[in-house]
Amino acid sequence: MDEYERIKIGISACLIGHEVRYDGGHKRDAYITNTLGQYFDFMPLCPEVGVGLGVPRPTMHLVRMGTDIHAVDIKDASIDHTERLAGYIDKVTAQLAQVCGYILKKNSPSCGMERVKVYNLSRSNLPPERDGTGIFAQTLRQRFPLLPVEEEGRLCDPVLRENFIGRVFVYHRWRGLEATGLTPASLVDFHADHKYILMAHDQEQARELGQMVAQVGKVENFQQLADAYIQLLMQSLAKRVSRGQHANVLQHLMGYLKAHLDAGDRQELLATIHQYRQGYVPLIVPITLLKHHFRRHPQPYVERQYYLTPHPGELMLRNQL
Ligand code: SF4
Repeated sequence: MDEYERIKIGISACLIGHEVRYDGGHKRDAYITNTLGQYFDFMPLCPEVGVGLGVPRPTMHLVRMGTDIHAVDIKDASIDHTERLAGYIDKVTAQLAQVCGYILKKNSPSCGMERVKVYNLSRSNLPPERDGTGIFAQTLRQRFPLLPVEEEGRLCDPVLRENFIGRVFVYHRWRGLEATGLTPASLVDFHADHKYILMAHDQEQARELGQMVAQVGKVENFQQLADAYIQLLMQSLAKRVSRGQHANVLQHLMGYLKAHLDAGDRQELLATIHQYRQGYVPLIVPITLLKHHFRRHPQPYVERQYYLTPHPGELMLRNQL
């Protein structure tokens, strides 16, 4: 745990117990505060309070007006909060520039990331459609397109949870690189360190990223290349990784041990990867066995791979994958 620097994450304030909801309550999430709170520093924001709506306050919801979606007062649709909520991002841009991830409150007309109810005033007899995004959440994603963003509800899914935390750590390392001065050499190193993480997410895009990195010494505008690189990388990391994709990466890594394992060890490792692929054991099992062999037969290129240790083991994110 000590080797990991605490990372700053933005969060809907009600999720860590701030009593900022319309009814004066909160939606404290035990996993976020108790478990993630041990590794991350939260920067809580409540857009509705931030734009001057008090606590308690009248509730609002999303409504469709032509092609646009607005956040309006539930009882009086002429009270429209959209502009103020969208403008809130300008007030907090400097704060948001410090975070490496954001956890949003689901279903909120301000903070909801997806599937927020959208009402149709002209067809009020119809049920709301679940295709909206909260007004603040939308501006957050537009203004900070690289930022890993997730909802607290989706964090209950082990795959999405591991994916989000993994992205936060990668993005944090990237920001660290930028802070110390991104150079062609440091970009090459960064790419090498993440090679197997990228391969797990999308082999095709991993190849594309590798080709971009191969150009670093040849392009005129290095910054442009670095921007395109991190954009594609973060896009790639947002994809879910299947058991089959992880199993392929594990077999690739096993290749480095070819000359060092006897037949029994090789069989055991292959069988463990197979069991993982079939869903009989979680990812942590073949990873632990691989690490055990790499400890006995160190391989410098594998040792630098974040794939084997992408986040603190104490979070146990790979115990449920
Ligand atoms: S969901 Fe967002 S706007 Fe609503 S109380 Fe929580 S932080 Fe505030």
